[in-house]
Amino acid sequence: MTRLVVVSNRVAPIDEGKQAAGGLAVAVLSALKKSGGIWFGWSGEVVATPPGDPELTEAGRLTYATLHLTRRDFEEYYNGFANSTLWPLFHYRLGLTNFSRRTCEGYERVNALFARKLAPLLHSEDMIWVHDYHLIPMAEELRLMGHGQRMGFFLHTPFPSPEILVALPNHGKLMRGLCAYDVVGFHTEVDLRCFANYIHYEAGGRIEDRGPGRGIIVEAYGRRLLARAFPISIDTDSLTALAQSAANARQTERLRESLVGRDLIIGVDRLDYSKGLPQRFEAFHCLLETYPANRGHVSFMQIAPPSRTDVPEYQAIRKELEASSGHTNGRFAEFDWVPIRYLNKSFTRRTLAGFFRVSRIGLVTPLRDGMNLVAKEYVACQDPEDPGVLVLSRFAGAAQELSAALIVNPYDVEGVAEALQRGLSMPLEERRERYHANMEVLRTHDIAKWRDDFVGSLTAAPYDA
Ligand code: UDP
Repeated sequence: MTRLVVVSNRVAPIDEGKQAAGGLAVAVLSALKKSGGIWFGWSGEVVATPPGDPELTEAGRLTYATLHLTRRDFEEYYNGFANSTLWPLFHYRLGLTNFSRRTCEGYERVNALFARKLAPLLHSEDMIWVHDYHLIPMAEELRLMGHGQRMGFFLHTPFPSPEILVALPNHGKLMRGLCAYDVVGFHTEVDLRCFANYIHYEAGGRIEDRGPGRGIIVEAYGRRLLARAFPISIDTDSLTALAQSAANARQTERLRESLVGRDLIIGVDRLDYSKGLPQRFEAFHCLLETYPANRGHVSFMQIAPPSRTDVPEYQAIRKELEASSGHTNGRFAEFDWVPIRYLNKSFTRRTLAGFFRVSRIGLVTPLRDGMNLVAKEYVACQDPEDPGVLVLSRFAGAAQELSAALIVNPYDVEGVAEALQRGLSMPLEERRERYHANMEVLRTHDIAKWRDDFVGSLTAAPYDA
């Protein structure tokens, strides 16, 4: 039987699987549980000496295969090229994009290492599904070693417009690597169009349109492949059930009690500059300034677990947000009301589900985001009888699907404040209509559909003429 071999930068440790922060882990686990197979990637540990063979752990039909990274590989590949070059570049942040040949070589070296360590575990009929920007060159490395298996890649970030991408000195090599896959998946049609434009205008390749939603056949760098949008999603039904059961959980009750009847606006994001947090804090400040009736009556809770703390840009944004929340609280707080609750820690899915359910507004305003699962989770956790309102950035992939949200431009701070005011005063009937429209999308496009669509497309490879 065909096995699925999933490769991602991080393999979520087995016993943490349930709580793993991040949509990728949840999505990968759900795909692997269905087919059985291998999940291969970094263990999350940094060690002094180069790793030997991957550590194998069996869990039913699933094998976890993990590798440690040396300090140098971690710095150059992970902190360096992946998170200081590709991440900002793919999120349209040229000003934050650092490039060096040293980290670029580290990235290529770790991709080659991953390919070498994975190769002995592969069977000829396996399907290999590689995830995210850390590992674009994996397929090319495996093909150079003679592996002819079907290989697919899914990009969890946005794919930038070619004008941005060509700022990367090695863009041609990276894109040639991307075309070594049989199927390349993006979140949205916008990302797909950017990729198609790169292939057409920069790579001199050919594009064949397969019709709406069915992707394009790309001929470039001597290869033929399918590129398609596969919008990632959530396990809608199980999350709705979780939120229902969490509605009266102890922590949800405590949050509700602490609000003493006030409305809550909630934001949940990794502490990352792509999430638009400074502008969001400013928008809440602007809400209190412009619509003073909200003072004392509305609180904003931002949950922002720190991430990539070794990268200087992440340290800078943390400082900025501490100053900004302090400023707003200093300006408006009363002895019995604090406007912003700013929490630098993470919560379990269950706790978040309960928090989403008691929040009148879900505020999701990234400056750029591949999809943004929090937006989808917020909607799925609402009480259908009395749902809250999603205020969503047009620059999140989720905005392509959740069009019944209040769609905002996160750079327009006053516009976001206006949308907050509109959401806070929205009549029940309109809230229900918007909720039902968004839920319809989430029920028909859940995580199972994402997995089945991608795996189905990979099963149909190769896309020969
Ligand atoms: N998340 C979590 N606990 C937290 C904060 C976030 O479990 O304290 C989860 C959140 O529910 C979502 C994921 O982390 O499933 C974040 O995914 P998203 O696509 O929103 O953003 P990313 O972090 O992948 O950029």
